[in-house]
Amino acid sequence: MEKDKDIVLQVENLQTSFFTEDGELKAVNDVSFSIEKGQSLGIVGESGSGKSITSLSILRLLTGTTGKIIGGKILFKGEDLTTFSEKKMQSIRGNRISMIFQEPMTSLNPTITIGEQIAEVIRGHQKKDRKSAWEDAVKMLSGVGIPEPEKRAKQYPFQLSGGMRQRVMIAIAISCQPELLIADEPTTALDVTIQAQILSLIKKIQRRSGGALVMITHDLGVIAETCDAVAVMYCGKIVEYASVAELFESPKHPYTMGLLNSIPSHETDSEEDLYIIDGQVPSPYELPNGCLFAPRCPYAKEICQNALPELLNLYGNRLVRCHMQQTEGRELEHDRWKSPSGS
Ligand code: SF4
Repeated sequence: MEKDKDIVLQVENLQTSFFTEDGELKAVNDVSFSIEKGQSLGIVGESGSGKSITSLSILRLLTGTTGKIIGGKILFKGEDLTTFSEKKMQSIRGNRISMIFQEPMTSLNPTITIGEQIAEVIRGHQKKDRKSAWEDAVKMLSGVGIPEPEKRAKQYPFQLSGGMRQRVMIAIAISCQPELLIADEPTTALDVTIQAQILSLIKKIQRRSGGALVMITHDLGVIAETCDAVAVMYCGKIVEYASVAELFESPKHPYTMGLLNSIPSHETDSEEDLYIIDGQVPSPYELPNGCLFAPRCPYAKEICQNALPELLNLYGNRLVRCHMQQTEGRELEHDRWKSPSGS
């Protein structure tokens, strides 16, 4: 029972579909995971894997699209968000659950000073007057490493660099000390050196607050920097779940192996050395009958073409969705895979 108290978010069999002229697009298809207080979970996958739609579903931000949650539960501190009214969700968004978006320039209001934008969020959720909300906003800017915060608070987004704007987005996201922080590709639009600073800032903030973090990314390097556990998604489904250390040490699903092999290393001398996963992510309207990864998988067998493997716990606390790992108990080895230690 004590353990349950620490679960911040429990997603159970979540299904989110988009209904278009071409038919139903199953963007998130029976996804389950949970995160405890102080834990950081990475959700990784290519474009179209369903990772971002998972985060938008959690925050119920699909309004205005053809997307709809059609099944499952999203339990936040034991309460099912899928049953909440829009008004109740508004009191939670930006307050108890916050999101850091990918592109700060499109998320910040260009006509309002950054200090006022942070203060507005604080006033929206807390009973604070203008003066104390402004003072808090300046403190938040200082907390995310913005120099001369009093001066910067009076500036507009266009007067800040990309890295500074992302720090402002982080300040807005954490201004009400959320219990759950969702970061959706928070560093994709930034230079490499700034990326490392922003990731380290997010991690520092999460450790300091003791809250839970969901990191959505296509980049396993980002996961390695910031997360304790990782869920690998492909075509709307989780194909592997493991601790970050275990996943990097010995990936079990062929898609995860491919993603890890695709990371350039100091041994990658030329483009020819860079591993590329064969083929394309299938069209969501024409998904294969069996394993969704079968058309691209070097290990595919007949069973893979005919039956979708279940996500099963095969190795302690690890979940894998692969027939070859399940039916034959076979340790797949990718000939090009090398652990980070080189072993
Ligand atoms: Fe590859 Fe078959 Fe495993 Fe799918 S089930 S990942 S096709 S080996």
